[in-house]
Amino acid sequence: MAEKRWISETLFDDLGFRMTYQVERVLHETQTGHQHLVLFEHRFFGKVLMLDGATQVTSKDEFVYHEMMSHVPLLAHGKPRQVLIVGGGDCGIAEEVLKHESIERVTQVEIDASVVEFSKRHFPEFTRPVLGNARFDLVIGDGMDYVAGTDRRFDVIIVDSTDPLGPGEVLFSERFYVACKRCMADGAVMVTQNGVPIFQADELSTTIAKLRGLFADGYCYTAAIPTYVGGHMAMGWATDDARLRRLPITTIARRYRKAGRFPTRYWTPEVHVAAFALPRFIADKVAAAGSSVAPVARDRRVRPIRFGRPARSRRRS
Ligand code: SAM
Repeated sequence: MAEKRWISETLFDDLGFRMTYQVERVLHETQTGHQHLVLFEHRFFGKVLMLDGATQVTSKDEFVYHEMMSHVPLLAHGKPRQVLIVGGGDCGIAEEVLKHESIERVTQVEIDASVVEFSKRHFPEFTRPVLGNARFDLVIGDGMDYVAGTDRRFDVIIVDSTDPLGPGEVLFSERFYVACKRCMADGAVMVTQNGVPIFQADELSTTIAKLRGLFADGYCYTAAIPTYVGGHMAMGWATDDARLRRLPITTIARRYRKAGRFPTRYWTPEVHVAAFALPRFIADKVAAAGSSVAPVARDRRVRPIRFGRPARSRRRS
């Protein structure tokens, strides 16, 4: 019997560290126009999607990241109507967001159409409730161009991106955050995928420094995602309403009931509030982040910023 293949994450090669999966079956492997994509079956984690050598999602633990990137900002905001997801290829985040009945429209801007196409075949549990939903629209394009050019305003922005490599790099840039700030409505919240602090401490502190130069409150919260190896995963937090991450459990629980009390497997009102209580080594990193750019005048008029090519849009495929 042929030796089973092992596939390694190469994200932390520079640290001399690799997490490796023994592969039961490779379901799909290709070089897309933007990144290397491989999907395989693993006997414990189920389906595993990797982009450019980094785990993106597994069937076994997807619920942790998807619930914490969605329900925390949405319930902290309290009455979100317009939501923007940047990245989010597999639609796992959109599936959670659409559980909130009060949300009128969810727009997902994904750079790589093939990630969505292939998620339709391999992750129907995410894509089926999303791509058929009248409240959802998909834009294929670079998130940077979209936020630089749109005249819409959003109550919540969720940046479900790859790591700051290749197409994802620009989504960690100051000009991206400046453009996101421009299309956020009053009292809006933005959350970002921000890596695992034990390995990616600089990524966290530089992001928070940029956010603090633009928002009254730049911070992060954490969750433990087994296949985002390294213990705590950090999710960047940015808003001009510094009260939103200090809401009591009773308020969050009340809002959850009002939002339809949909089933969750990780998120609870208690976990929500506790996620902002940072372990010392992460809190020290956040505290040391300081702010790096002069606060931008809170100009309310919506003026497109001409950075890149105009975004292409395609309603529900
Ligand atoms: N949860 C995963 C993580 O934490 O690594 C991310 C999941 S999701 C698959 C990431 C998506 O971001 C990918 O589908 C990728 O194509 C998309 N992406 C990367 N750079 C982008 C950009 N500049 N604009 C829009 N989408 C982008």
